[in-house]
Formats: sequence, structure tokens, C-alpha cells
Amino acid sequence: PSRSDITYFGAGPSGLPHEVIEDAAQALVNFNNTGLGIAEHSHRSNIATTILNEAKADLASYLDIPDDYEILFMQGGGSGEFSALAYNFVGAWVARKQREIGFDGLNSAVKTDLKLDYIITGSWSQKAAAEAERLFGEEHVNIVADGRKMNDGKFGSIPEESTWKLSKGAAMVYYCDNETVDGVEFPGFPKSLEPGLEGDDGPIVVADMSSNILSRKIPIKNFSAIFFGAQKNLGVTGITVVVIKKSFLPPATSQPSATLMRQLGLPIPPRVFEYETVAKNNSLYNTLSIFDVYVAGRVLKGLLLQHPDKVEGQQAISQQKAQLIYKALEAHPDVYKIVPDKTVRSRMNICFRIEGGDSVEKTFVEEGAALGLTGLKGHRSVGGIRASNYNAVPLEGAEKLAEFIGAFASHRET
Ligand code: PLP
Repeated sequence: PSRSDITYFGAGPSGLPHEVIEDAAQALVNFNNTGLGIAEHSHRSNIATTILNEAKADLASYLDIPDDYEILFMQGGGSGEFSALAYNFVGAWVARKQREIGFDGLNSAVKTDLKLDYIITGSWSQKAAAEAERLFGEEHVNIVADGRKMNDGKFGSIPEESTWKLSKGAAMVYYCDNETVDGVEFPGFPKSLEPGLEGDDGPIVVADMSSNILSRKIPIKNFSAIFFGAQKNLGVTGITVVVIKKSFLPPATSQPSATLMRQLGLPIPPRVFEYETVAKNNSLYNTLSIFDVYVAGRVLKGLLLQHPDKVEGQQAISQQKAQLIYKALEAHPDVYKIVPDKTVRSRMNICFRIEGGDSVEKTFVEEGAALGLTGLKGHRSVGGIRASNYNAVPLEGAEKLAEFIGAFASHRET
């Protein structure tokens, strides 16, 4: 088939806008008539710096990122950030404590007070918490809430905020804004993590936005950091973006020395995972794939061109597409069971089961593929169907899927 025959609902990597891929293919061969492809130019060339800075500026403009935040392009994927966040925010916690209490009490403060808080609502936040336990020990990881306890050991809900057990002065509170595998999305910024009254900055909140970034407006000011891999809504696999408050970077804050951390029995991050180092070098501490940044930049330019009101324009379309698909499923409650609770249904990863189980689901995937609707198989860990409704899926693609959902059900009902 040709590209125009296919609507791709894969969960990541996802599809990309056709014009971006055409442009990127050309850029790989001969970038701007330089006689060299974009992946061959030095990451330290003016060409590379321009691409990098433009992508940063366009991301800041599209998401309305304030000036007191830094944008970092990193490697190691979303999974790398599970580790990087823990390392860096523990470092910031130690630096803060040392300023507050000096060196003498540090050792015992680490033992009693150092906590990393995790809100677990799906497979990815669970992995992030497990990584923190591996690096720092279970005694330093506090599970604020666990979506599984409410739902037969399966993900599909977000526990009531009134039941959350937040630590006092945690090094960070972590959550995953959209759980790609389980189809659970936070409906908005959690009330209990909001900054408090004047003078109270509120908790240090960090979030994984790998699978819903660029699809809705986010209150950046409420976060100390967010991160997202490029391979869903931003571009191709290979770069991960971190947006971090500058107050966690020099000159405001520096990571504690390796010697001090060793004395405290705490691990230090590899250099390439140290936000301070990456920020100081404008994301060019080591070789960065400028091709990946170029593709992300093209995606952002396309979005900015398409939506004069920026991310809010895309948010309306994302909502419309998700509603079309959920409505089609809801029209046949005997055939389709939507996995997550209604209030936390993801607009990006639409997860459902089909009456009859695996064999009927297999038929659904096959019949869908025959119509050009591909990538519908659920994650191997949970099974079922997952339609990933990322930004590159056009409205007509969502309409086609909704129509197929209806036709498949009618066929089974008769
Ligand atoms: N976080 C979320 C929400 C994801 O969907 C994924 C991957 O699908 C990851 C993290 C892990 O990203 P990576 O595969 O880049 O390590």
C-alpha cells in the first residue's frame, strides 16, 4: 500500500505528517543545497545550532513555556528520564538541605527525610517508581497512590486525591500524565499538587508527558520538570525533551559534589544524565542527533502554521477525534468494553476489549488492517485493542475508525 492508503494507530513510534516525512527524506539527502545531508552535518555547526534553537523557540511558543524554564534535548528515551529525574531531583534535595542545615545533620536527614513520591496509574509510572527503588532503595520511595488497588489489580482508574499519601518535602512528586499502555489520562493538573498560597511554591512536581504532549494546554508553571520522548507526538525516536525550571540549574542550584554524595551513600548520575551539564552545553555536551531535532522542528512549525491559537487549536481537534471513537464504542455496549473509567479515559490511547475475547479481537485487527486501519493491537502486556489517536492521525482517520467500529459491531450483533 502507499502511505495515503493507511491510517496508523500505533502507540509509538507513531505516524508522522506526510509533508514532514517528505521534507525529512529530502533533508537526509541534501540539506538546503549544502551537498550534505542533515545527519552528516556537525552537531556543532551553525546549521545545527540554528535548528536546535528554532525548535526550542517553536516549542516554547506552541506550549507557552515561560522564560524561567530551560528546554533540554537528551538521549536515553523516556526510560532514561526515569533514572535522570530521580538522580537530579535527589541532588537538588541534598543541595537544598545542605543550605538549610549545613553538613552535619545531612546524613541523618537523608536517612529519615529523603523521599521520592510516585503516583502510580499505569505501567509507565510503575516502571519509573521501580527504577527509583532500584537506584535509591525502597526506603526512599513513597507510593502516594496506586491505581491498581481500586480495580481488581488492573490499571484503569486514578485514586481519589483525598486518599493520596504525599510525603512532606519530597525531592519530587512524580506522575505520568497519560499512561500509554493502559489508556489512563489525568483529566487535568491534580488539585492537591497545586502551588499553595503566596510564598508557598507547592510540591516539586514532575510529569511524564511522553504520549500526550502537544495535544493539550498544560500549566507549565505548576511543574518543576516535564519530559517526553519524541516518538509519539513530536517526531522520530531518538531524542527526549526535558523542560525544567531554571531554579534547579546553575547558578541557582548545582548538583552536590560526587564526594559529598558518596559520603551520604547516594548515587550520582552519569554525566549525560546530569541536567546541569546538558543545560550548560545547550544540549550539546555530546553528539546529538540533529536529524531528530530537525524533524521535531518541522512538526512544530506545521502545528504552529495550522493553529493560530497554538496548542489550544490542536487540543480541540484531539478532543473531537477521541469523542468520535469513544462514541462509536459506547453505541455498542454489548460488544465493546472500554477499559479505563470514564473520567480518566485517555484522548490519546483508546483501550478497549471486544466481547468474545482474543479471537474476535484478532479478527477486528485483521479486518481493520484490510481497510487500511493499522496498528490497533493492544500492548502485549494487557492485550485487547488500543487505538492511538496521536496528532498525526487526521480527523478523517478517526472518522474511518469510528465507522469501522460501528460496522464491525453491527455485523456481530446480527
Ligand atoms: N513513558 C511513556 C508514557 C511511554 O509511553 C513510554 C514508551 O512508550 C515511555 C515512557 C518509555 O519511553 P522509551 O521507550 O523512549 O524509553
